[in-house]
Amino acid sequence: MAIERTFSMIKPDATKRNLTGAITKMLEDAGLRVVASKRVWMSRREAEGFYAVHKDRPFFGELVEGMTSGPTIVQVLEGEGAILKNREIMGATNPSNADEGTIRKVHALSIGENSVHGSDAPETAAQEIKYWFSDTEIVG
Ligand code: GDP
Ligand code: MG
Repeated sequence: MAIERTFSMIKPDATKRNLTGAITKMLEDAGLRVVASKRVWMSRREAEGFYAVHKDRPFFGELVEGMTSGPTIVQVLEGEGAILKNREIMGATNPSNADEGTIRKVHALSIGENSVHGSDAPETAAQEIKYWFSDTEIVG
């Protein structure tokens, strides 16, 4: 499988509980490498833009509220099959459905406060990386 890059976020519900290191360790233990990372407190406009694909969903307001409620760690992860691998280690969107040992099973509070984001396909990975990082901020 090819070396890929994917976009990841440690969401405010997790940074508020001081889980940045614990979650990053789970990503690293799964074989992913952090090749870019920064801590941002996103604006409403940034959150709405990032999650524009969900703008007509009933949970959109709650999602934007949550994402602007504290700091987020935005990261680029690199590794073999990184996009799928990250989705696997994250676990299901709803932590009640997440497999044992996944980040969401271990750390998430609810479907709305589910601790992490990960790109779901090569196209969204490229788009999402570009939304938060310039080329010079990514150091492989
Ligand atoms: P993901 O790719 O697993 O993060 O899930 P989606 O792309 O479907 O949704 C994006 C984010 O919106 C999720 O991670 C949740 O934080 C939030 N979300 C999705 N569905 C719901 C829902 O039914 N209720 C609430 N409150 N939030 C949701
Ligand atoms: Mg998604």
